[in-house]
Amino acid sequence: MCSIIGYRGGRKAVRVLINGLRNMEYRGYDSVGVATMDGAKIQVRKRVGRVDDVSKAMGLDELGGTSGVGHTRWATQGAPTDRNAHPHVSSGGRVAIVHNGTIENFAELRTSLESQGFSFKSETDSEVIANLLESELDGGDGVRGAVLRTIAKIRGHYTFAAIFNDGSMAATRRRESLIVGVGDGEYYVSSDVHGFVEYANDVIYVNDGDVVVIDDDGLGIYDGDGRRVTTELTKVSRELATIYKEDYAHHTLKEISEQPDVIGAAGADESAVSAVARSLRDAGTVYIVGSGTSYNAALAAKHLLLEYASIRAEAIVASEIPVHARSLERGGIMLAISQSGESADVLEAAGIARNAGIDVISIVNHPNSALARESTDVIRINCGPEIGVAATKSFLSQLVVLYKIVGELGGPGIDQEVISQAISGALESGPHVKEIARRLRDVNDVYVLGRGIHYAIALEAALKLKELTYIHAEAMPGGELKHGPLALLDEDTNVIIINPPGTTHDDALADAAKIRARGAHVIGIDTADSDAYDDWIPIPESDEAAHTIAEIVPIQLLAYYTALERDTNPDRPRNLAKSVTVR
Ligand code: GLU
Repeated sequence: MCSIIGYRGGRKAVRVLINGLRNMEYRGYDSVGVATMDGAKIQVRKRVGRVDDVSKAMGLDELGGTSGVGHTRWATQGAPTDRNAHPHVSSGGRVAIVHNGTIENFAELRTSLESQGFSFKSETDSEVIANLLESELDGGDGVRGAVLRTIAKIRGHYTFAAIFNDGSMAATRRRESLIVGVGDGEYYVSSDVHGFVEYANDVIYVNDGDVVVIDDDGLGIYDGDGRRVTTELTKVSRELATIYKEDYAHHTLKEISEQPDVIGAAGADESAVSAVARSLRDAGTVYIVGSGTSYNAALAAKHLLLEYASIRAEAIVASEIPVHARSLERGGIMLAISQSGESADVLEAAGIARNAGIDVISIVNHPNSALARESTDVIRINCGPEIGVAATKSFLSQLVVLYKIVGELGGPGIDQEVISQAISGALESGPHVKEIARRLRDVNDVYVLGRGIHYAIALEAALKLKELTYIHAEAMPGGELKHGPLALLDEDTNVIIINPPGTTHDDALADAAKIRARGAHVIGIDTADSDAYDDWIPIPESDEAAHTIAEIVPIQLLAYYTALERDTNPDRPRNLAKSVTVR
């Protein structure tokens, strides 16, 4: 979701800003803008569109200056228009800001600022930050004081960065991410390390409420009382620098293809896995939350805990937790699953749980994310940066972690080598899947069936198809067919049945037969072919955990190749963002 980048140093700022925004494009956005300090004047250029197009159309490279801020916007307040694009400049021209998040009390602040003579050019909530900063600039305590007084007045979730016409830069955060990159005499502020990782490897993860000031004296970070805080430099791992897609046509294909290798690092910290398993075993009630793909993993977790550890858990979509806030039981555990660890819905659910006396443990990819920092225990999935907006390798890595947890509680131990082989075998379906994708190019609906834990995987399959192909895809437990959905079937319908060997296999074959009898086209994902399938996508014979983990792979490929057939960009589905940091 929207990205912020700021730079102050010796390089031509606009190049650093554009490059950073380009590397963060995967987060999703609708418009682009930059502001630099060119001489003593702040220069702004911004427009709706993609980074490279806006850069070319507006000649961004012409902007001089060695400090500046840049932004890709994902509109929450005010339509995606050129005028509403960031940066926003204060009415006196002394400050330009870029903002990620939402300012809840912007309307009253705007009215008050207007009565003091400040003017507004956009419909955004963000512009109040620029004018508030300017209104506070003459307090005698410089930029730091202006930012502290501004954040005392605004409510909401935000990261913002500002440049001032005295040449200084400032940034702060509340419940959104902010990372400072430290180079040789130069500094970066960004929502994401990808914004600057090719220039600087030393980073500081800024705490909520702290204020970053960068001026001629260098870098200072201050707490809410204006006291200087000492911070730790963290080296960003080299792998974070390798976000480039090498020889693959798309990040999504690269990420699907590297799944056999990346799952080895999922939940590698065995003591963390054991600690979480113990907490789940001893908990009163277990709530498992996630959004999107991570919710599908949560539902798989519910099955696994019940099946192997006799633990009854509730899997709840994170954004539904506020509805259940009053009924959450003190002494329970919330297992929060999130790739980014920054998803606003999951963070809110975690906050509600903590207030209700419930410990939060998390399964995340980003170890320094807000969710990880706010959790009692954390298990890392360690799958490396996932750039494709649709989750692929993070889902498999989440499943591996979940199997490891239940392995500690009496479930089947997993052999990562066996799982890697099963995934590699499933990837071999690529050429056959490509043919099926050609057939799916013009269809309107796809149904995906699974029973037991395979229903959770069917939900993920339907989500992949929706995200990448924009085809209506719906998952259901196989047994539900006869309770309504059978009415939808005719010879134009495609139904995918996820059907590995196991206790649900025969019932799912019977589902397939009922569907074929109505003339619909059945695609079976199975270790063996059957008369009940029109098309068979083989997955290799393996153990139960490996089947469950690998069976989504052909559908990831199917969604990818169908997206290409339908001429949509699989890396950046329309209307979606990678980390959904707004509620
Ligand atoms: N709320 C702000 C806007 O709509 C910022 C949105 C964003 O995070 O990109 O302009």
